[in-house]
Amino acid sequence: MGMVQDVRIAKRTGFCYGVREAVDKAKEAADAGRITHTLGQVVHNEGVVASLHARGVQPIQGLDEALDGSTVVIRAHGITPTVRQAAADRGLDVIDGTCSWVLAEQRELRKLVEDGYTIVLLGTPNHPEVVGLLGFAPDAIVVDEEDDWDRIPRRKRMALITQSTQPPWKFERLAARMVNLAHELKIVNTVCPVTIRRQEDTVATAREVDFMVVVGGRSSANTKELTRLCEIVGAPVIQVEHARDLADPGVFGDATVVGVTGGTSTPIEDLQAVAERILELAGTPEARTRAGAIALEALDAAATPAGRTSSLPRGSGVAAAAR
Ligand code: SF4
Repeated sequence: MGMVQDVRIAKRTGFCYGVREAVDKAKEAADAGRITHTLGQVVHNEGVVASLHARGVQPIQGLDEALDGSTVVIRAHGITPTVRQAAADRGLDVIDGTCSWVLAEQRELRKLVEDGYTIVLLGTPNHPEVVGLLGFAPDAIVVDEEDDWDRIPRRKRMALITQSTQPPWKFERLAARMVNLAHELKIVNTVCPVTIRRQEDTVATAREVDFMVVVGGRSSANTKELTRLCEIVGAPVIQVEHARDLADPGVFGDATVVGVTGGTSTPIEDLQAVAERILELAGTPEARTRAGAIALEALDAAATPAGRTSSLPRGSGVAAAAR
């Protein structure tokens, strides 16, 4: 018999604003009857990609796959100047969903190149955002985990900048390490504030509950980081992609309160579905009967106007709560 009585959803979760904007732009273009592509998957989330597909949005891997006269939505991660030029040359209708934060990173990089700095970019090699950034600074040295940092050379004038979703502690650590490698070190902190807030709220929730469930794509770096942070604060944690991945009530042990959080490309509806599933699977008899209502209460408690992000249509319950 299950023991879970309550679920909590971390406060500032759901889509980050960059992802929400890109998803909304793709929806709007398709709803306006245009042939719409997204360049790459608009989010690392199967459910969202499937719902866009149902509206007629087709992801493409390269511009050569775009139909003539079609609309191409650039996702939040951004693209290189070369790809942007290629889209213009083909006369495609480009809708720029590049997150404003990523655009700022691109501008900063361009400036660092002009100013002649040797640039170190903290980021995951081959991640689309990093690929896009390298288009602005092709000679930047990309480093990720700490065992990679020995590759950083000693130079007179160096600059450090980061992919938006890298954890702040890692950025700080690398900055400290680089102090001794350069005569002049310029640090441009481009860790996205949404990422920081989400990590704070996840840690706050993890401290209040007996067990955490992190929801997000397996390949989503910021989702994995949330799981790691839960481990650091000592909360037992599992990471899932969907509510249906939860099948074994045994994993919850004797937890009575379970927390739910998700990455920047996880819609808040997925967190609600996971919360409900936890109660159905491992709830007390009373919690099982009220699973839907308890999950909705958890969603309402999380969906505060200050921090909510959603791409739900206006007028839905959650969007109304977000206003
Ligand atoms: S995590 Fe931040 S920088 Fe990245 S898309 Fe979301 S809001 Fe933009």
